[in-house]
Amino acid sequence: MNNLLALNWKMNKTPTEAKAWAEEVRSGLHQSYADVAVLAPAINLPTLAAELPQSVAFGAQDISEHESGAYTGEISGAMLKDVGARYAIVGHSERREYHGETDANVAAKAAQAQASGLTPIVCVGEGLDVREQGEHVAHTLAQLRGSLEGVGADVVVAYEPVWAIGTGKTATAEDAEEMAAAIREALHSFYADQAGSIRILYGGSVKPENIAEICGKPNVNGALVGGASLKAADVLAMNEAL
Ligand code: 13P
Repeated sequence: MNNLLALNWKMNKTPTEAKAWAEEVRSGLHQSYADVAVLAPAINLPTLAAELPQSVAFGAQDISEHESGAYTGEISGAMLKDVGARYAIVGHSERREYHGETDANVAAKAAQAQASGLTPIVCVGEGLDVREQGEHVAHTLAQLRGSLEGVGADVVVAYEPVWAIGTGKTATAEDAEEMAAAIREALHSFYADQAGSIRILYGGSVKPENIAEICGKPNVNGALVGGASLKAADVLAMNEAL
């Protein structure tokens, strides 16, 4: 299975900056060693649709759990699909923390993404207190179960330990593999044989220097990258490393 290099810009880049980034990637990307997808603020998606090379997919960082209607400020799966999006992140820890999203919200969003023809990237992961108590696997698997309730197998799972996000503290490749293997086993119980083709990503302070080791682990099939996704040069270096 090809690695997925998923780039989460978070709340960064104006459309003008997005265009410049896409131009730099287009001129520097001679060969894709991984499947690359940019998860951008929704206002940047039409720009990315116009400027990215064909080989680079794009998507949103969130999606409404509703199909359409009186939900001021929200963006539907149909709108994302219409501009050519392929993916939507759901349940990022920042949405869970700052917007109170529950596993049930995340599952509803993931199902709505699938109903619109998008692949959800479902995020799970423990905080530092849980890790220090040694409860990280049980915690993350419980979150996974709740976040995939009623969700089909066309899904990407991203394991992002909250303590490693934006902190410069990366889980070791062994930590990432321990969790990815546990997630894989859980996916087998949810999706039987289809579990083998579900990508499991690691996220949390991934950069050009550590991506190859982490993604070299058997159950890790790519990375969800925040800070290091903002500079086109770092993205090109991560692609080269994979
Ligand atoms: P950083 O790569 O900046 O740690 O962010 C990880 C993340 O949250 C990606 O979704």
